[in-house]
Amino acid sequence: MEKKTAVYVCSGCGIGASLNIDPLMSISKEDYSVPVCKSHECLCSREGAAMIKEDISNEGVNTLVIAACSPRVMYDVFNFENCIVDRVNLREQVAWCQKPGEEDTQMMAEDYLRMALAKVEAMELPVPFKPEQEISRDILVVGGGLAGMTAAMEASKAGYGAILVEKEPELGGFQKKVGQIATFPYKDLKDNRIISDLVKAVTSNPKIKVYTGAAVEKTVGGPGIFEISIKQNGSLAEHRCGAIVMAAGWQPYDPGKLDKKLGFGLSPDVITNAMFEEMSFGGNVTRPSDGKPVARVAFLQCAGSRDPKHLPYCSTVCCTTSLKQAVRIKGQNPDSEVYVVYKEMRTPGQAEDLYRKAQESGVLFIRCQDPEVKAEGGRPAVEAADELSGETILLGNLDLVVLATGMVPATAFGPDIGKELLKAADEEKKEEDLDVPLDIIRRSKILNLDYRQGPEMPALRYDFPDSHFICFPYETRRTGIYAAGCVHRPMGIGSTLEDAAGATMKAIQCIELTSRGAAVHPRAGDMSYPEFAMQRCTQCKRCTVECPFGAINEDEKANPLPQPTRCRRCGVCMGACPERIISFKNYSVAMIGSMVKAINVPEEDEEKPRILVLACENDAYAALDMAGIHRMTHNPWVRVIPLRCLGSMNLVWIADSLSKGIDGVLLLGCQHGDDYQCHFIKGSELASIRLSKVSETLNRLALESDRVRFETVSIIDYPKLPGLLDEFAEKLVEIGPNPFKGW
Ligand code: SF4
Ligand code: SF4
Repeated sequence: MEKKTAVYVCSGCGIGASLNIDPLMSISKEDYSVPVCKSHECLCSREGAAMIKEDISNEGVNTLVIAACSPRVMYDVFNFENCIVDRVNLREQVAWCQKPGEEDTQMMAEDYLRMALAKVEAMELPVPFKPEQEISRDILVVGGGLAGMTAAMEASKAGYGAILVEKEPELGGFQKKVGQIATFPYKDLKDNRIISDLVKAVTSNPKIKVYTGAAVEKTVGGPGIFEISIKQNGSLAEHRCGAIVMAAGWQPYDPGKLDKKLGFGLSPDVITNAMFEEMSFGGNVTRPSDGKPVARVAFLQCAGSRDPKHLPYCSTVCCTTSLKQAVRIKGQNPDSEVYVVYKEMRTPGQAEDLYRKAQESGVLFIRCQDPEVKAEGGRPAVEAADELSGETILLGNLDLVVLATGMVPATAFGPDIGKELLKAADEEKKEEDLDVPLDIIRRSKILNLDYRQGPEMPALRYDFPDSHFICFPYETRRTGIYAAGCVHRPMGIGSTLEDAAGATMKAIQCIELTSRGAAVHPRAGDMSYPEFAMQRCTQCKRCTVECPFGAINEDEKANPLPQPTRCRRCGVCMGACPERIISFKNYSVAMIGSMVKAINVPEEDEEKPRILVLACENDAYAALDMAGIHRMTHNPWVRVIPLRCLGSMNLVWIADSLSKGIDGVLLLGCQHGDDYQCHFIKGSELASIRLSKVSETLNRLALESDRVRFETVSIIDYPKLPGLLDEFAEKLVEIGPNPFKGW
């Protein structure tokens, strides 16, 4: 497209009071030969936007530099179809955070305008990616339990087809084995009809195709164009689908791994809560050892849960499940003695009513952190130090001890599976040589993804396949694949229904955005995608390894094979590529490089150092805006460039800045590590790893390592930012000016 550029400067919101607008016009006209330059006292008003639209229609302008408020606000007002648009943040990051009328403030605004003009010169209008194959609007649901069937029903209600794959011969999942449930309003136990009703609804729904006794043999492609092979009874069925809801469920924590003190294996009458459900389905509970009625029962809570040696988390449902089971025993035999030995009783919301019901039914509660199950006279007994009475109680001659074990996601071994499969296949290892037993490997194969980064879902802490639990609660690290139900996190019936509906809505959103060629969150709607100048690729594999979303496959010669519909447009691959051959139409190494070059670096004797701040647009840039909104003045020497993710940072920008005479470079990214807040999971961490190699560049330029600094900030850290910038500026003054100034 032939560009015709226009610059619009807003003088409202205090910008006009802080800055001299005329020099901004002159820079645009004289230095950059911009044909249309206008200012307006309120550019975001109807009149202001109409003025721009008129120029688009009448003057043919198609490349717009809008110097006004932050790009984080008014994006609808300043979104003009088929136009390249860049926003210069004169309000939050100049007028609201710098001293009005000062020379330094004016210089900052002029630099930002130059940087934007250089940027739009390098930018092109993104052309949405359209795959060759037709986009499918069907949703694959893996797992035919409560979550999976709910997801399939929700998809069909919204007008989308669903393909439901269940590995067992029948639909229903674990809930199929549960006879009675305790749900809102928690007054009485109810017969569990949820599953039977859902099975009827799903199997009679013409929009849902059900495969039972089946498994996903292979998943190829990406959102919109997933090609799924489903194996059932030895034959293969092929489907294309647009998105996937993974509702593969959970497994009870293996009681064999519990501390011996909890007595599993000591007697057949020591069972788990999951075994209780199966035993009690449709009948009375009896002693497993001899089938006699039960009259003395103890429930032991948190068996392995909230224990760093076993499951460090709370499975959220074990307390209400034990209360339900205790009430059930009392209902079966009101004269029975039922004890619940607990660390803390967790009955969130109105489940508290079930707790009261259990107390009213005569269930006795003992608070003890470390109970022990023993065998006394051939019967199980529980010894518990009661924290409330201060006495040690021995519950002897028990008919049943029920251990409240927690939930393990079906993906528990996901991260290891790829490695183990490779070991098994490539090295022909025998089962005993594998770290994970073969049957677990087989059971853990859920999606069989044809992804370079492995066949199953990467997991976060505790093996749940989440990706960003703070900002994107349904996301996984595989675009277009959404976890629902207990594979996502431990949850009860009510939460599962909501979770399945939420995941399905995300799947639908993904299909719709993909069909328009747009990205899903966090850059929802972005039409750009990475393009590879393959003739210069050295097959170094950095992009295929570092992409946080597994969006780049590899051919047999190790050439990257980008899968654009999987891409989240973070630019991490662009930052990783040493050959600098990956770019987006509107974001590239050259484009940021030209912005750096556009910064006016004063001579040494002017005593105006310059600091380049490369700021993650998700948090750090937003925090700088917040500081401006709170009118916190920050250092006038800084020049900020927002990056999609700090992981997209290419080291060449640092080298270019320093060799141009910029005194220091500050990288502001998100927290990484276990408590990461990086929106692209690994971007910030990868940037810090790359930065560890920057010393080479500094040595080559004979510059001090203190000139480059990495800091992590979240949006709520904005009050610290002015101090942080000042402190870095002081350090640079101490080091002295960059000797490359004026070269
Ligand atoms: S690193 Fe980011 S931009 Fe590059 S392919 Fe992966 S998701 Fe897309
Ligand atoms: S990082 Fe660059 S050079 Fe390396 S494989 Fe990817 S595209 Fe090729």
